[in-house]
Amino acid sequence: MVKKKLRIGFFSFTCCQGCQFTILFIDKILDILQQLDVGYFHLLKDKDRSKEDFDIAFIEGAITTKREVRKLKNIKNKSKFVVAIGACAVNGGIPSMRNYMENRELEKYVYNQKMLKDSIEVEPLDCFIKVDYHMRGCPIIKEEFVSFLANYAKGKVITEFKGSVCDQCSKRGKDCYLGKKIVCLGAITHGGCDAICTKDNIPCIMCRGPLSSSNFPAEVRLFKSWGLSDMQ
Ligand code: SF4
Ligand code: SF4
Ligand code: SF4
Repeated sequence: MVKKKLRIGFFSFTCCQGCQFTILFIDKILDILQQLDVGYFHLLKDKDRSKEDFDIAFIEGAITTKREVRKLKNIKNKSKFVVAIGACAVNGGIPSMRNYMENRELEKYVYNQKMLKDSIEVEPLDCFIKVDYHMRGCPIIKEEFVSFLANYAKGKVITEFKGSVCDQCSKRGKDCYLGKKIVCLGAITHGGCDAICTKDNIPCIMCRGPLSSSNFPAEVRLFKSWGLSDMQ
């Protein structure tokens, strides 16, 4: 019997679409996608309306309007497994900067006033639907996407990395930035990225989002003891 291909869809809400482009830039992406039934991936092909259900929905972008909430819930109802891809979908990301501007202030500049009425405070997917897996980062990491798909196809239980960036950092304990009074946010950031930035001699800037179990006050106290202000 021929094994049924996994039917997947890629959806995008408010964001730069950099995570979907990251997927397109994966080596051998066409070989990977040929082993799947891609129902929706608007950067690559028209929507296949023959079936409306998905084994996995990969969703990028933050939710910024009532219309997007309806669309998101509709996708959720049609999908067995939902993966939030990228910081915008997981944490609100860059679009959530809008929350710091009052709509009244925005009214002065936005041409399409009807669209403004539909807008809501920017929120991540979790605020509206149950997300089954969070693929963090800005953008996501290609290797995580490839291994996620391979494991899912084999029926393996998929678990998210629980520790911080420090847990995977080669500088930990010997050459750590904190020892040189250089700001690095690895200790309070979700790991799973293999600490790729610190490997390249770049401090972590928390693109995978804050780790709730971390000691934020201690980190802030440390930076303040170096003379840094709240803004810095
Ligand atoms: S997480 Fe970053 S790369 Fe991905 S869509 Fe948002 S801003 Fe773009
Ligand atoms: S991630 Fe940053 S803070 Fe953590 S061990 Fe590495 S250099 Fe130090
Ligand atoms: S090291 Fe920090 S900034 Fe770099 S990918 Fe990991 S979480 Fe993002």
